[in-house]
Amino acid sequence: MNICMRCGKTFDRAGTETDDVGYTYSICPYCESDNFTSAETCPFTGDYIPSGQGVSASVQKRVQQRLEQIVADEGVENDDQLYALIEVIGNWSEERS
Ligand SMILES: [Zn+2]
Repeated sequence: MNICMRCGKTFDRAGTETDDVGYTYSICPYCESDNFTSAETCPFTGDYIPSGQGVSASVQKRVQQRLEQIVADEGVENDDQLYALIEVIGNWSEERS
């Protein structure tokens, strides 16, 4: 499965277009953009997302808002404190994997 980075639609088979000098390239069959990539499903929403993105934009936004709340709750005032919190999150992630 592929996902178009311009229109967001998904498709199995890309279209093709041939330019003036005879070069053929792959395009989105819906909007004809050549800016598309392989897709995978978000493990939370099941929506198709670009491979490597991890989660859908809505889940990413929600998690980022929670992380911002943690930063606010901990009273982070400078970069040293922020990087220390990020290290805590990194350590927590390593312990869980
Ligand atoms: Zn498209």
